[in-house]
Amino acid sequence: MLGLLKGLKTTLWFFFRPKVTVQYPNQKREYSQRFRGLHELTRRPDGLEKCVGCELCAGACPTGCITVVGAENDPAHPHSSGERYAAVWQVNILRCIFCGICQEACPTGALHLTRFNELADYSREIEIYTKDRLLEPPAGSPKIGKEVLG
Ligand code: SF4
Ligand code: SF4
Repeated sequence: MLGLLKGLKTTLWFFFRPKVTVQYPNQKREYSQRFRGLHELTRRPDGLEKCVGCELCAGACPTGCITVVGAENDPAHPHSSGERYAAVWQVNILRCIFCGICQEACPTGALHLTRFNELADYSREIEIYTKDRLLEPPAGSPKIGKEVLG
């Protein structure tokens, strides 16, 4: 009986303490300013892609989750300001540890880790984020999803 009362005392003590959980997704916690989420490939003010397909981010990534395939730009219709651009740029977000080393390694400032972290999904294929999903929309486009989270 004494043991039961002791247990109930502990339960009641925790019952009246402030809750440490929140009603996600209706309520969300504030994240640290240093929080890192999904990648974004940014553009220059003139709309060209900053990424020049150099593959340094892929080489620096400690988990090997970035794949970059560079290609020569068509001078008449360049994708980027350099001679080359990323024909393929993708990250396997299931293997990413959000360390930010890829962002630091990028010589053109093309790569930016946003604060977007709602990455759960039902298929492994969806977790391979390809360039078309990561490239910043052109200026003037409505911002949706990850773009609004900085
Ligand atoms: S954040 Fe780290 S683990 Fe994730 S892609 Fe960049 S370098 Fe790789
Ligand atoms: S994101 Fe940066 S480091 Fe990676 S391929 Fe593009 S320019 Fe190179």
